[in-house]
Amino acid sequence: MTDATDTGAVAPQRHFISEADLRALAADLLGAGTDVIAPVSVDACQSPSALATAACLRPGVAPVEAEYKAIGDAAELDLGRAQPVLSLKQFFLPEHEALCRWHQRGLEVTVEEVPTSFAPRVVLAAKPCDSAALAVVDEVMNWDYEDELWNGRREASTIFNLACPVIDESCFCTAVGSAPDDVKGADGLLTPVEGGYLAEATTDKGRALIAAHAARFSPVDEPATAALVRQADDERAAARRRVAANLEIDAESVRDWIATHFEDPLLASLAIRCNGCGACSSVCPTCHCFDIVDEEEGVGRGTRRRCWDTCQAPTFTLHASGHNPRDDQHVRYRQRINHKFSIYPLKFGEVLCTGCGRCTRVCHAGQDLVEILGAIDIAARRPGEPVAAGTAGPEPGDAEAAS
Ligand code: SF4
Ligand code: SF4
Repeated sequence: MTDATDTGAVAPQRHFISEADLRALAADLLGAGTDVIAPVSVDACQSPSALATAACLRPGVAPVEAEYKAIGDAAELDLGRAQPVLSLKQFFLPEHEALCRWHQRGLEVTVEEVPTSFAPRVVLAAKPCDSAALAVVDEVMNWDYEDELWNGRREASTIFNLACPVIDESCFCTAVGSAPDDVKGADGLLTPVEGGYLAEATTDKGRALIAAHAARFSPVDEPATAALVRQADDERAAARRRVAANLEIDAESVRDWIATHFEDPLLASLAIRCNGCGACSSVCPTCHCFDIVDEEEGVGRGTRRRCWDTCQAPTFTLHASGHNPRDDQHVRYRQRINHKFSIYPLKFGEVLCTGCGRCTRVCHAGQDLVEILGAIDIAARRPGEPVAAGTAGPEPGDAEAAS
């Protein structure tokens, strides 16, 4: 697994890599048979994203969006720094995958395990909020059970982030302990500078990648290239300031307020627009719930498979008896907020959110996590102050009527 702690004490050696050499590095890796996962541009009207639907109805418009993909050609690599619609999660916890296969002959059942080790692969130009999410989810994947499929893919992956310029007003990574130049969960960082990128490896895996492809990188020795380094530092500091202006909360106060206000009308009112479609969970890099199903494939054989699930679906907690402890959408949405911002941080010391903003962008009902966290922060730190217009919207009692 990526050594998330190997990031602090010693300043990382900085290298310069030109854009041409970065593409050549991707080509070298592909040529050596290494999988390379990276953002690519796709025709939004052909992608599963709901974001593009309206634009696709307009004649002559061909909206483009980014997706992470296992590329086949270095020319596909999109370094435009747009945010892929789906997060990196899909490459570590696929939407569905086999856990084992069974064969039954008479009373004898044999179980065929699936491989849990994977060929080395490299992720280039990952979003910092996506690599940070992997490190957050590592906690639950190694808690009461070690998830060998997750850990195998983490171990096999070397990740270089690309410093983010901040996408829009829905980003809030700094409010939840991350940053647009975070290397948490990654092995290094690329920052755009004139003519290319400043590359910093922060783990042994990252250093090994640079060492193995040393011809593509030139060491940056200060102060000879101080201007380059200053350019990268300035760009990163500016991005941090931009995203911090979107939302400032005290995550510990939010955590503790939620933990002690389970029945507070504010929590009920937050879900007024939510209809439980679950899109927010699918795009979220930290949502990790899955269902396990047995699929029969003919007589006496089948596959046990896990697939993404969401706490926003009414069936998520439906008991076989018909009883459902979360029988109302406001209760399910409260669970989403409670789990991410209170239960998980109290258990693992990490907020189950990296502020990527995808859930807000994808929500067709207009649930805005920046507004929602802002409202809870006000309730926690400045009780009595009215929440911002449009945040909790309706009066508390309206949540019952709407759900
Ligand atoms: S918050 Fe939005 S995206 Fe998430 S389940 Fe509710 S309606 Fe769907
Ligand atoms: S909860 Fe929303 S903002 Fe937070 S990581 Fe998930 S999708 Fe991103």
